[in-house]
This record gives sequence, structure tokens and C-alpha cells, in this order.
Amino acid sequence: MTLLAVCISPKDEKDFLEQLKLAQLQGAEAIEIRTDALNDPDSETVLELIQDVRKTGLPVIVTCRDIREGGFKHVDFSCRLEILRKAILAGADYVDVELSNFRHPDVQSVIKAALGSSSTRLILSAHNFEGPFQDVQILYESILSLCPEAIPKIVSKANHLNECFAVFELLVNAETPLIAFCMGSSGQVSRILAKKLGSLFTYASIDEKNAAAAGQLSVGQLKKAYRWDSINSETEVFGLIGSPVAHSLSPALYNACFEKDHLNALYLPFLVEGDIGEFSFFLDQMRRLKRLGLGGFSVTIPHKTSALEYAKQHGEYVDPLAVTIGSVNTLKIGFNGLISAYNTDYSGAMEALSSVIGSGTHRLHQMTAAVIGAGGAARAIVAGLTEAGSSVTIYNRTFSRARRLADEFGCKAESFDAIAALKADILINCTSIGMYPQTKASPIPDGILNENMIVFDTVYNPLETELLKKAKQAGARVVNGAEMFIRQAIAQYKIFIGKEPQESVVRQIVIEGLTSKD
Ligand code: NAP
Repeated sequence: MTLLAVCISPKDEKDFLEQLKLAQLQGAEAIEIRTDALNDPDSETVLELIQDVRKTGLPVIVTCRDIREGGFKHVDFSCRLEILRKAILAGADYVDVELSNFRHPDVQSVIKAALGSSSTRLILSAHNFEGPFQDVQILYESILSLCPEAIPKIVSKANHLNECFAVFELLVNAETPLIAFCMGSSGQVSRILAKKLGSLFTYASIDEKNAAAAGQLSVGQLKKAYRWDSINSETEVFGLIGSPVAHSLSPALYNACFEKDHLNALYLPFLVEGDIGEFSFFLDQMRRLKRLGLGGFSVTIPHKTSALEYAKQHGEYVDPLAVTIGSVNTLKIGFNGLISAYNTDYSGAMEALSSVIGSGTHRLHQMTAAVIGAGGAARAIVAGLTEAGSSVTIYNRTFSRARRLADEFGCKAESFDAIAALKADILINCTSIGMYPQTKASPIPDGILNENMIVFDTVYNPLETELLKKAKQAGARVVNGAEMFIRQAIAQYKIFIGKEPQESVVRQIVIEGLTSKD
């Protein structure tokens, strides 16, 4: 069982009691006292703090972190040792000692003598703040050979998400209690997956301001955004693969839908930087670790074409539409890691458009459409429009890309400058122009919009872009990017789970998420 340990880094006992109360209210499952944060660290104060935690009934971990391993400040060596010794004698449930210090015969003899017949468990911790350890399995074994009763704690910085796999592997194979996860933004998901994979603790802060280490999440984030209380070894894991992913609405959206549908499932943001090499390594490793129990992935910038290539090589099924569009935004992982690949941007965009046309997409064959942009979103939309029979012209900053896309789908291509003379029934922005934070930008000059047009902006942050504001002023009918996002997410959820989510839940999360960002 994995406990959510809240790190309290108090200045003094008053500060400690305030933080302890908050930690309890938020549902802490254990308390780590970072005694190295005290203004005057001394063993008598620490005994008081241990008694304070005792009253809550929560397990207590006492740590006096060496400044060389992330401590808040320099605390005299003998003082640190005395704090740990007294914590053991006072019956703390766990004391955390740095492996490097425990190798010192003096430290070892004092700690071992104090442990004697006490019930306190010793955590021997190793940290690497620069990057991964050379071999975590050897490190794990060396800790146990030094002290077979110890609980190894192995924490390293992940400079890339792919550096977490050695830690996942260790958790899967460990035969004794172990604490292992990665620090940094690339390692953040490892703090959540630690529960699925059986780490003894995951550490959290009381709030986002008080993180005691890089990438540490708050109790609130873990519980509300990442369904901490419902994670167990059976939880099915889904996620978004992309870069960046930190501000994506998808984790909140999927986790809320899983909750509503009472599913034992979790959706995480997987920050995979790099190109197809890193993307393929990530998917290979995730699929290899069967204990992760994968359900599927959403795929976003910059990996949609890599996802198609990967699915062509390793997939059981690739939707022909995704091949036509040239990109995949949905990977469903079935039994034995089998992959099927789809693109739901197409249906999302077409459904969003028909919501404003009001009679499905069949009237599109009578219409002319101007598509601005020639990237992934444009490909899905051009495929949908040409399939429906619209006469499409593509305008793109890099004309050669517009030309290639137009040739592929039998459309016309124009340069970006030609937008000034554009005439069309439907105008669709498939560039990121107007997206937060450049919210005053618009992909078109003034004077080309009129009340007979339909204007669709795929940008969904902000909800109402500058382009849509101008379109409304001109009397045009408008479709925002959120409508496409919502509809593609509903289609994707159905592929993942086999049934549609409650549309009202999806709408609420998306609109709330985007309104709070406006
Ligand atoms: P992409 O493949 O990277 O393509 C980006 C396109 O935007 C390219 O055509 C690029 O032109 C053009 N572009 C970028 N910055 C520009 C600038 N400053 N001036 C002129 N053109 C510029 O990205 P994508 O996946 O197609 O995404 C494009 C937009 O669609 C994004 O805003 C994204 O948020 C949105 N989108 C929305 C949804 C939804 O569900 N609502 C789904 C997918 C995408 P060059 O070829 O010259 O580089």
C-alpha cells in the first residue's frame, strides 16, 4: 500500500501545528517532518513535533536532510544525528537517513544502536539532483546489503520522461518495501504512478507554493486532479503524450469523466520532448511494463505524425481515415499491448461545423471554404471538407506546404498575402495565430468578413479569439475551437472506453478551464 506523505517544513512548533492541521484536513496519510527547516533545529523541539503528530494517529517520518542532499540549511552533523537518534527513541514510525551519511561507521553505529528493538523503520535515501543514477538496481541491492531491514529510498531527477523507466522497472521487480520516484517536471507522473506500482510513499506538499522538491505535487492536486484515492494496482492508465502538456485540459476532463462513470482509470499528462525517437522509446517502454495496465493515449503536438508512423509499424489496426489525414491523435492499447490508431480531430471539426450549419455536413458540397494553415489540424479539416464536397482553398505562411496539401486533396493553394482578397462561404483558422498569450492577433486583415460567412477558429484558448470577435461584429455565424475540442474528446473517450462520456461533464470542464484562463 502506498501512503501519501505530506512534507511539513516548519519554522517552529506554532508553524508546524498550523501546517499539520491543514495536512490533516486535506487527507494526509502520513507526515514527514523536515526538521532541517526549523529556525533552531534541536532534538527537544523535534520530540514535541512527534508528539503532535502522534495525536493525529498518522504515521510520522522524521528527516533532518543534509544540505548536500537537498536540506534547507546547514545543520551541524552532531545535531542532525541527535535529532534522528531521539526520534527513534521517541518511537517515530520512520527516520530517513542519507545513504551517504549512513556509510560513516559513526553514524551507522549510533543509528543501529538506537534502532535496537524499537519499531522505528529506517529509510536509507539516495538522491541525485542532476540526473538518473547509473544503475538503480545495483543501488537498491547495495542499500539492502548495508542494512537488510532498511527501506531504500531512491530519488533522482528525470531530465526527460524516458529517464523514469529504470525507476518504474525497479518498483515492479522489488521484493522488499521501497520508495522510488523521479524529481523535476519530467518526473512528475512518476510520483503518481508510484502508487500504481507500489512505492511505500509518495511525498506531497500542502500547497503548490510549499513544494519541498522539484516536481512535487500538492495533496490537493493529487487528490482532485489525479484521483489519488482511487488509484490501486488495477487502475487502467491513460494519458496525453505531447510537449508541452502542462496546461492541457485533457487530464481534468478525462479524470472527471472516469469519476462520473465509476471507472478505475487514471489520465496523466506525459511530457515527451523530442521527436519520433523519444516518442517510440516512450511507447515501447510503456507497453513493455505490463503492470502499468495501459488503456490508451491522446496524442498532441508534436507527435501526431510520429504516432501514425509508430502505429503503422506496431499497430494491429490503423484507421484508413488517419492514414488519409496523415496523423493520429488517439492510440488505444488493447490486451497484450496491441495498438489501434485513430484521428478524432476530423469528426470533431466536422461535427463542430455542422452544429452551426444546422443540417449535418451535406450542405458543405455547395460551399466554398478558405482554410488558413497547412499543419495537422488543417489536414484533418481539409480531408473532412473535401470528403463532403466543398471547394477548398488553402492559405499558408509557407506556401510549399499549402501547395503539397492542396495537391494531395485536390484543392487550390494560395499564398498568405492572398488572404486579403479572400472570398468564401466558410473561413477556418488552422494556425495558432490568436492563441494565448498573443490574443490580440488575427490571421486575417479587416474588411473580408461579412454576415453571410461561417467563421470557425480551431484555436480554443481563448474561447473567443480576436478573429471570432471580428466575425461576430460583421454578423457572421461563428464556431469556436472548444466546440471541436469537446467533440473530438467525446469521440476519443468512446474509442477508449466503448461508450460516450456525459457531454455536460465534458462541456463544464472545458468551459470552466478556458474561462479561468481568459
Ligand atoms: P501545426 O501542425 O504545427 O501547424 C501549424 C500551422 O500554423 C502551420 O500551417 C503554420 O504555418 C501555421 N502558423 C503557425 N504560426 C504562424 C504564424 N505566426 N503566422 C502564420 N502561420 C503560422 O499545428 P496544428 O496541430 O495544425 O495546430 C494548429 C492550431 O489548431 C493550433 O492553434 C491548435 O491549438 C489548433 N487545434 C485545435 C484543435 C481543437 O480541438 N480545437 C485540435 C487540433 C489543433 P507554416 O507551415 O508556415 O509553419
